[in-house]
Amino acid sequence: MSRVILFCLIAIVLASCAPAPTPTVAPTAKPTEVPKPTVAPIAAPTIAPTPVPTTAPTVAKRDLGREKLAPNDGWAAEGKGTTGGAAATADQVYTVKNRKELIAALNDGKYPAPSITPSNVAKIIYVDGTIDANVDDNNKSLTCADYQRDGYTIQAYNAAFDPAVWGKKAVTGTLETARVNSQRAQDARVRIRVGSNTTIVGLGQKATLRGAWFDVRGTATAPLSNIIIRNLTLQDTFDCFPQWDPTDGAEGNWNSLYDMISLRYVDHVWIDHNTFEDRDTIDSKAPTYFGRHFEMHDGALDITNAADLVTASWNRFQNHDKTMLIGSSDSGATATGDKGKLRVTLHHNFFDNVGQRTPRVRFGQLHVYNNYYRIVNMSNYGYSWGVGVESQIYAENNYFKTDDKVALAKIIGNYKGTMIYAAGTRVNDKDVDVLAEHNAANETKIAGKADWKPPLVVKVDPIETVIASVEKDAGPINW
Ligand code: CA
Ligand code: CA
Repeated sequence: MSRVILFCLIAIVLASCAPAPTPTVAPTAKPTEVPKPTVAPIAAPTIAPTPVPTTAPTVAKRDLGREKLAPNDGWAAEGKGTTGGAAATADQVYTVKNRKELIAALNDGKYPAPSITPSNVAKIIYVDGTIDANVDDNNKSLTCADYQRDGYTIQAYNAAFDPAVWGKKAVTGTLETARVNSQRAQDARVRIRVGSNTTIVGLGQKATLRGAWFDVRGTATAPLSNIIIRNLTLQDTFDCFPQWDPTDGAEGNWNSLYDMISLRYVDHVWIDHNTFEDRDTIDSKAPTYFGRHFEMHDGALDITNAADLVTASWNRFQNHDKTMLIGSSDSGATATGDKGKLRVTLHHNFFDNVGQRTPRVRFGQLHVYNNYYRIVNMSNYGYSWGVGVESQIYAENNYFKTDDKVALAKIIGNYKGTMIYAAGTRVNDKDVDVLAEHNAANETKIAGKADWKPPLVVKVDPIETVIASVEKDAGPINW
């Protein structure tokens, strides 16, 4: 580098690199006067009026339809996680106000559904207001009488199958066929099939589905996957045509078909911030025939037939009996398929005066934590945690509020299970070892362990906070 250039570089830093001009001596001329700038009159600053905010300051509005399950939030977060319809394109986002629109949304806009296999295309379905499933195509209400077929009436049915006349064998014949055909007529209206990659979410806090059965069902070889159901009130799912089974139990039983949600052959499901309840069809209003309660309901959320990887969080279950069956059979083909599946996380749910099965488990690894059980002034309480065949419940920091009708030994029910891990259980402000209570009262003992540890957990809250947070936040949220 030449010295000049080097000099220049240095000089650039200091000033300019132009060669210093030989000063020409300017003639002593009067400097031309720089014209005075015309000073613009100083305008009074316009004070912008303080805007009155028309909406809340720019907080992005929450869109429950686009939300995904958080990482590590229970079994449904396993592997690919659960996103439902979060990736839906604009043409697969629906707002539905009646049964027909709901079914069309589940089937790429087609009604009636072209087949029993709903669309698996990513979709978001917002439920607006109350949708009744017991309606015709013009949204006119249908009653149980509208579904009766082939001469079925409850009077004729009961006359035929009165144990004094029929005895204790399984029911068959004309009136049982009539009952089945009547039941099929109702099934065709209330059974709503849901496909993969779907989010169904209630708008606002009051979206309600009455009388519907969400049947989420793949097959053993082609299971469904990736489904979210949130922020809905699922109410009064009832079967007009319960079957009398004289062989069920010592005195016989009335059995019904429809759950509020059933999950079969499906994985990665998130059930969040819903309310499951019976109101108009509450059990206490139902009649008794042959000395047995006429049961028009089945499960609230039943998880069977090799369903797997489910997180149920922040739901309310209220005024219902059989709440959550996990695994439907001890033996046979169903049981074979269930082994290694039925992995479910239940956290921050409010089980408010429900009778039994919260949950009742076969085979599955269940993480049950931070749930609140209120069992007060109940005449039909059975048990809370059903320890069934090969089940592995891992329970932590659950709160029970009970009255003196509930024996501590009844919280756990033994249905041929061998183990349950239950830590941090509190009953009415006292820490209680509910397994020790069960074992002290029963001949057959259950071991206090589980052969696994929950791998997917966001946070197990201290027991002190459970009642307040679950009472406040379980069930649909206002958004
Ligand atoms: Ca049943
Ligand atoms: Ca069921």
